[in-house]
Amino acid sequence: MDLFGLLFPKRCVCCRSTGEYLCTKCFSYLSFDTKPLCLVCDRPSFNNLTHPVCHKKFTIDGCFSAVSYNKTAKKLIYSFKYKPYLSDLKNLLSELFYESIIQKELFMNLIKDGNWIIASIPLSDSKLRKRGYNQAEILAFELSKRLNIPRKNLLKRVKDTKSQFKLTKKEREKNIKGAFKLIHNSEFIIQNVLLVDDVVTSGATLLEASNILKRNGAKRVIGLTFARD
Ligand SMILES: [Zn+2]
Ligand SMILES: [Zn+2]
Repeated sequence: MDLFGLLFPKRCVCCRSTGEYLCTKCFSYLSFDTKPLCLVCDRPSFNNLTHPVCHKKFTIDGCFSAVSYNKTAKKLIYSFKYKPYLSDLKNLLSELFYESIIQKELFMNLIKDGNWIIASIPLSDSKLRKRGYNQAEILAFELSKRLNIPRKNLLKRVKDTKSQFKLTKKEREKNIKGAFKLIHNSEFIIQNVLLVDDVVTSGATLLEASNILKRNGAKRVIGLTFARD
């Protein structure tokens, strides 16, 4: 171990034991069993896709997630996003993300054909300044390398939304409406888009972002998140 490692040993983000960012015991609490739900109606959808009856012209086509949003996953994401801003966690998170997602046969079949690109949910400028990085963009970047799918920034945040935390699904939809715009040089998208975010809860953010992408020509939009509530 180098001097830095001796002075500042890695600690498990959950139980604080030294050694790794996630110890073996806490790792075992992660659940890779994510409930496949339709993002529109929140009811089960066995293939992770939006139900045909819930699907309108610009609706997201489905969503896949790596882990369920339990206490351990929450700790991981929280440590990645908030103080002390462990951007170092990106390797662990992307590795978990990638390893889980490639086990999903339906997902792998889906991306086999067609022209896919990876994009991410943008942060507002003020949040980006505060954090210094966009956690969704980092995950998208790492997944892009591992899945060998090109990445592009397609969206920008034009509205600083309040925290979605305590809002109902309907309130979240209203809150996020108009929050995104297409980045100027990506005005016309002809590809299919994998839209990456760290966590999906109500789906309102992914639904709104998909709406913008599809209005601008995206054929299919699939959400891809590290955790699923
Ligand atoms: Zn631990
Ligand atoms: Zn549905």
